[in-house]
Amino acid sequence: MNLIDTHIHVDGMSEDELREMVSNGITRAITCAYFPIEPNYTQTLIDLFTRLIDYDVPKTREWGLDLYAAIGIHPRSIPKAGFDQIIEVMKTLYKHEFVVAFGETGLQLGSNKEIDALKSQLELAKDCDFPIIVHTPSANKLKVTEKTLPIIDKIRINPELVVLDHVNDETMSKVDKSGYNVGLTVQSGKLLPETAAELIIQYADSNIIVLNSDNGFRKCNITSVAQTIESLKSHGVEKKLLERISHKNAEKIFKF
Ligand SMILES: [Zn+2]
Repeated sequence: MNLIDTHIHVDGMSEDELREMVSNGITRAITCAYFPIEPNYTQTLIDLFTRLIDYDVPKTREWGLDLYAAIGIHPRSIPKAGFDQIIEVMKTLYKHEFVVAFGETGLQLGSNKEIDALKSQLELAKDCDFPIIVHTPSANKLKVTEKTLPIIDKIRINPELVVLDHVNDETMSKVDKSGYNVGLTVQSGKLLPETAAELIIQYADSNIIVLNSDNGFRKCNITSVAQTIESLKSHGVEKKLLERISHKNAEKIFKF
């Protein structure tokens, strides 16, 4: 089966882990921009985007994974000195053939600074008619998701451009019928393959759902996306649904 992992962090993964993803059936993936500490300079993130596009993506492609990039300001990576300059660079870089989305962005704690960065990136995605990956945090997920949704609603962006990511069994009913695409992150401490499969069976009729592992910068779960598909198969779901979840929904959103 043709599997797409819609959210990894390739700069936090080893060559062995990436090759293992390929041997576990992942054919395409999106690496999301993330800098693990609060940068002192706006240029730090701009260099990170260039690193992803000019170094990480071509390198990973040599290892057999058809990789693409998402460029954006993660709520943990908002520079001390403002971010307008980064938005300006994103306006140009998104046209690069390897870039398929803005992100990841979103709220971590829900501070005003995070809200400003999220809004600016949503406005940018709306103006560019380009997909955007919006993260929800592990801590206080429900509360922060409830804070995030009205912020996106207010921008009046085409909902088909938005992937609300790391949705779980606690937040799925809130996100259901919002019109935004749903990212399920199958990873220890987030969602188990079996739980993800149950959510898909329950909600895939009314939502466009994609799968990812969020691998990188910690212990990776290389097989989680494939395991979710296996779990769906063991429930006897129809082939069309398997195809949508494994790759067709992602192809539709990210146009690759
Ligand atoms: Zn991530």
